[in-house]
Amino acid sequence: MKLHKNSLKLAGLYLAIIMFISLFFSAAIFQLSVAELDRGLRHPGPMGQLGPEARLPADIRDVLRQDREIRYTEAKDRVAGRLIAVNGIIFIAAGFLSYYLSLRTLRPIEEANERLERFTADASHELRTPLSVMQSEIDVALTDPKLSLAKARAVLSSNLEEITRLTDLSAALLQLARLGGDSLPKQELGLSAVVQKAVEEITPLASQKDIKIMVPVMDEGVVMGDEPSLFQAIAILLDNAVKYSPKKSKIDVQVEATPKNIIIKVADRGPGIKDSELPHIFERFYRADSSRSRAHTNGYGLGLAIAQSIVGMHNGSISVESSYGKGSTFTIQLPRAK
Ligand code: ADP
Repeated sequence: MKLHKNSLKLAGLYLAIIMFISLFFSAAIFQLSVAELDRGLRHPGPMGQLGPEARLPADIRDVLRQDREIRYTEAKDRVAGRLIAVNGIIFIAAGFLSYYLSLRTLRPIEEANERLERFTADASHELRTPLSVMQSEIDVALTDPKLSLAKARAVLSSNLEEITRLTDLSAALLQLARLGGDSLPKQELGLSAVVQKAVEEITPLASQKDIKIMVPVMDEGVVMGDEPSLFQAIAILLDNAVKYSPKKSKIDVQVEATPKNIIIKVADRGPGIKDSELPHIFERFYRADSSRSRAHTNGYGLGLAIAQSIVGMHNGSISVESSYGKGSTFTIQLPRAK
């Protein structure tokens, strides 16, 4: 509705500009045509006045003059009529074209605006939740006249948890904002070493769930990149794989080199992602239904958005294939260093 209203406004502006130009030229054409007609029919000049006509009797010359006058008025009306018709056609055609162009111009802006509004609303919601939890816990503690030390400690440790969540969330938000801006400092680096490091980091967490991370011999893929950022993108995929995998399962990690790209795959045997959710999982704050409860995971739905921004800043792409109930494979593709 908002898009429709704004498009109409912009289309009105486009149309006004087009019609101003069209009417300006029409007026000029009309003036020129009238001047030409005037010269040709009303005041034909020395040829008409001193030529054969001059030798005709005065009454016949009068009739001829009147006839020219009539033809002059008719021709003038015809020119005016045609110009009005042309302007009418231009008005209708330009009206449609302006509306179409304004829709095309405004749609991406409107979409970006909607995304920003959604992002702000989601971010405020996520920030408010831990704050409300803390507030109500403190309220209850303060109004309890017999608050024991043990209870006070429990409230403080719960508050600390919420503060940690808030710190993590604000760090993630700050990082997303930064990733949208400057480019990253890049240098040649071997991706298998980065993957190896990320696997080592996640292994203790995987061991807690008895999950094995399988890393076969990997290609030594060299890319131009920022090591900490690429490490983070890979760590996000591994972290998700561990988070969503069942106990005692396996995660396969691969690095493959093709002539142009280096491909990193992280495949898990977790719950998979529904087809209807697949297009959204890289959106900020998106959490698939099955993982929405905070008890199950404690993410914000920002991990994949961050990974996608990082990969995008390396001119690469990130994608997912998943069969619901069987597992998911996330793939990062990065251009090889020349
Ligand atoms: P979160 O912090 O919630 O994990 P992400 O941005 O990392 O946020 O992931 C977004 C959503 O994508 C998750 O909530 C989850 O539903 C889905 N998802 C991500 N990775 C996996 C995976 N390996 N298996 C199943 N679902 C996944």
